[in-house]
Amino acid sequence: MKGILSIVATPIGNLEDMTLRALRILKEADYVLCEDTRVTGKLLSHYEIDASLVRYDAHASAHVHEEILRDLKEGKHIALVSDAGTPGVSDPGVLLVSQALVEDIKVETIPGPSAVTAAFSIAGVSGNQFVFLGFVPHKKGRQTFFERVAEYEIPVIFYESTHRIMKTFTSLSEVLTSQTVIVARELTKLHEEVVKGSIEEVELYFKEHPDHQKGEFVVIVTP
Ligand code: SAM
Repeated sequence: MKGILSIVATPIGNLEDMTLRALRILKEADYVLCEDTRVTGKLLSHYEIDASLVRYDAHASAHVHEEILRDLKEGKHIALVSDAGTPGVSDPGVLLVSQALVEDIKVETIPGPSAVTAAFSIAGVSGNQFVFLGFVPHKKGRQTFFERVAEYEIPVIFYESTHRIMKTFTSLSEVLTSQTVIVARELTKLHEEVVKGSIEEVELYFKEHPDHQKGEFVVIVTP
């Protein structure tokens, strides 16, 4: 009998954002694959869940995949989480899921938080469409990335880290014309905020508030 691979979304900041089903699955699974045992350990201890944690990150080798697939084929129930949000969305998981599907193993989703949908839900952007581009490339392809962002006719959403957010505003100011930019920062956390305006207004706001340059960011550009 084949096992089950459960892809479990976890909070993007606020530990209360766990679904009842996610809690049950993490309790029931034979083991939980996670990026960082300290991060997931903190979540599990908050909910008094005593699960065995196995490291699975973006560098997981072919051998690690083989072992997990072997366990699944032997009937094990394995849960996969990432540090925050939904695995496979700019996070590890895609390779394991695709290999499990090839092996005809049941893969189930335990949906929950993701920064992309959380940001879109409070962006106040009309229409029901968006394009999600994941992370801004660090070096190669950066210029092309921003040129593409400026050309879309529907809202574009991407992730950016605290280290490069100001650089990204500079790059956007070189390509955007009349678009509106929405910056969703520290979602679900104490300092959650949404800053909306032209790229010049948004850039000025963050220049004037250097303490707000820290944290996690989702950027939305609307035509
Ligand atoms: N899998 C995650 C998801 O479903 O949202 C995304 C993981 S990705 C490695 C991390 C990036 O997501 C951060 O650099 C940031 O751009 C975005 N992010 C994660 N948590 C966030 C939060 N609380 N507020 C704003 N952006 C967040």
